[in-house]
Parts: sequence; structure tokens; C-alpha cells
Amino acid sequence: MPPGVHKRPFYYFHCPSCGLKSSYARPVGRGWRNPLFWCEACGKYSRQKRLWLVSSLWGVTAGLIATTIWFGPFYSLYFEEPTALRLAAPLAGLAVALAVWPIFGRLFLRYERDPDGHT
Ligand SMILES: [Zn+2]
Repeated sequence: MPPGVHKRPFYYFHCPSCGLKSSYARPVGRGWRNPLFWCEACGKYSRQKRLWLVSSLWGVTAGLIATTIWFGPFYSLYFEEPTALRLAAPLAGLAVALAVWPIFGRLFLRYERDPDGHT
């Protein structure tokens, strides 16, 4: 494995060079700003396509999911129950949003080859 490569779990990866699919990615370095990804099957490098679009879309989606949870099934709890239960609503919203992330990633994360192979 090249230096700086580590595992990012729950991050769908589909290698544009060899077609490997995995439920985790192997970015080079710790940065989230247009990271370089390394394929453990063929050793080639790639970058995520439309990173900012996918990030924005995820922000909106996660926000909608969390809001739906808060004001949907937990609405009455939030306004009628004691404080301890009020904490459950945002936590449940967050938990559901995070649970949806792997599916979202599978649908929207796309990669393209990076011939240079360095950041
Ligand atoms: Zn590959």
C-alpha cells in the first residue's frame, strides 16, 4: 500500500480502471477536499466526480431526513414529553440520516481516473 493511504469505511468505491467495487474507499491523505483514491486491486489512482455537487446533495438529503424524523413520528414527543425524551428526536434523526448514507453513496459516488496519481 502506498504511503498515506488509509481506509474510509462506509464510503462506496467503484474503481474506474478495473471495476472493483467495495463498501469502503482508500483515500490518500486525510483531506476531504478533492482527495485522491487508491485502488487496492489494480493500484491505480482516481478522484471522485462532482465532489461538491454530491456533498451539497447529501447535505440537503440528510437535512430533509432529519427534519422529517423530528417533525414526523417524534413531533408529539418533542412538545409534550419531558426533557430527556426531547433529546431522542434529534438523535434519531441523525441516526437515520447516517444509516441512509451508504445507500446514498452507492447511488451518487462516482470516480474517474487520475493519470497523475499524486495530490
Ligand atoms: Zn482498480
